[in-house]
Amino acid sequence: MSDLYKNIPKIDKLLENKEIKSCINKYGRDFVLTIIRKHLDNIRNNIANNIISRIDEEEILNTLIYKIDKENKSKFKKVVNGTGVIVHTNLGRSIFSEEIAQEISGNLCSYSNLEYNLDTGERGQRYDHIIDIIKEVTGAEDALVVNNNAAAVLLTLKTLAFGKEVIVSRGELVEIGGSFRIPDVIKESGCTLKEVGTTNKTHLKDYISAVTENTGAIIKIHTSNYKIVGFTDDVDTKDLKKISYEKNIPLIEDLGSGMIIDLHNFGLNKEPTVRETLDRGVDVVTFSGDKLLGGPQCGVIVGKSKYIKKIKKNQLLRALRVDKFTIMSLELTLKAYLNPDTLSLKVPTIRMITEDVEDVKLRAQRLLEKINSLNSTNIHCELMKTNSMIGGGAYPLDRLDSWGIKLKIEGSSEKETEERLRSNDIPIIVRILEGNIIIDCKTILEKDEDEIFNALNKIIGEKND
Ligand SMILES: *Cc1c(COP(=O)(O)O)cnc(C)c1O
Repeated sequence: MSDLYKNIPKIDKLLENKEIKSCINKYGRDFVLTIIRKHLDNIRNNIANNIISRIDEEEILNTLIYKIDKENKSKFKKVVNGTGVIVHTNLGRSIFSEEIAQEISGNLCSYSNLEYNLDTGERGQRYDHIIDIIKEVTGAEDALVVNNNAAAVLLTLKTLAFGKEVIVSRGELVEIGGSFRIPDVIKESGCTLKEVGTTNKTHLKDYISAVTENTGAIIKIHTSNYKIVGFTDDVDTKDLKKISYEKNIPLIEDLGSGMIIDLHNFGLNKEPTVRETLDRGVDVVTFSGDKLLGGPQCGVIVGKSKYIKKIKKNQLLRALRVDKFTIMSLELTLKAYLNPDTLSLKVPTIRMITEDVEDVKLRAQRLLEKINSLNSTNIHCELMKTNSMIGGGAYPLDRLDSWGIKLKIEGSSEKETEERLRSNDIPIIVRILEGNIIIDCKTILEKDEDEIFNALNKIIGEKND
């Protein structure tokens, strides 16, 4: 027993090792020392608990180098999205095209005119870079951008209706993604929630009788992540506009997913675009930048100048302001909308939603061939028709026709295979359906094909060991 303790290599000796030395050069002595001390403590504990019965210096060195490298790798990883959910909130929602990413990265390592007016040499406004393009693609009078749509709703309500009542239909008191609950956001904005109507039906007269001197705003929430179907009724925005106009109360709409182009033409249900919502007379519209728009995380506020001006003056804006990365990437994403011919090339979210199902099938066939080229009798896979989803709470009932790969690995349960794909160096996230692994090719990128090939190659290699 005491021999084991004696055999633990001395720290000084470990530090002499060539590979450890190179780790010190890369990551610093203190960092490496901390990991060595922790690991040696672990070993002492294991000896005390009779978990190990021998000391192998070579093994210790290998483990140390593995741990040092691992600790230094970013915990933030890129993953392969084989779920077929295009705007997958857990997987980072929308992704950027290489083209846009290259343009952004070119600017990230330089200073910029973020808040500098190049014409006058004086201080400028960070929002100035994007207001014109937002106005152009939405038709709004004025615009503003904050950190996310939740912040957009909060700032809008806090500015326009603080200390007053906000009227909402009971059918629209939604929760989105766990932490965004409309009643809570209204409270957090310093407003009082005034519910009208019932879960399935709200009439114009409900709104009319709710309006008092203390009404600060009427807000409509796009119930984007669920649908009430059957015996339902809600009030047309045009009618709400009449009340809002007569009583001089701002009419706000939280659109959730900001649709710039009409996706109805691509087989999805009719949902209002941002422009259509403004055309119906809504004073202030808010939406996310990273859902259907396909850009960075942010919340866009558009609408009548007199309201947006007020919102811009709110001190809270300073706490919700967006970073230069967001401004650059939002500008480039919105600019892509000016040319419908190249939009799909530049905005992957739009490409995935609008592409021909035959193109997805070709991708799936190519991936199938690639997997088959592993020539393994342990892998059973075939092409299959799938249904993919938009996600991000948008179009909860709509499904997009898609193609994928149905996969089974001999001697490995679907749960085991799923876990091994997930623990791959570049994790591969898949669906399990009726005992099979499904890789939905709707969300598979060309560069992902090699990752999937390599991961499967590794998995079958481990099996043969
Ligand atoms: C997604 C969504 C939000 C929250 O938007 P974030 O950009 O995630 O903050 C708010 N309202 C609606 C209707 C939504 O769909």
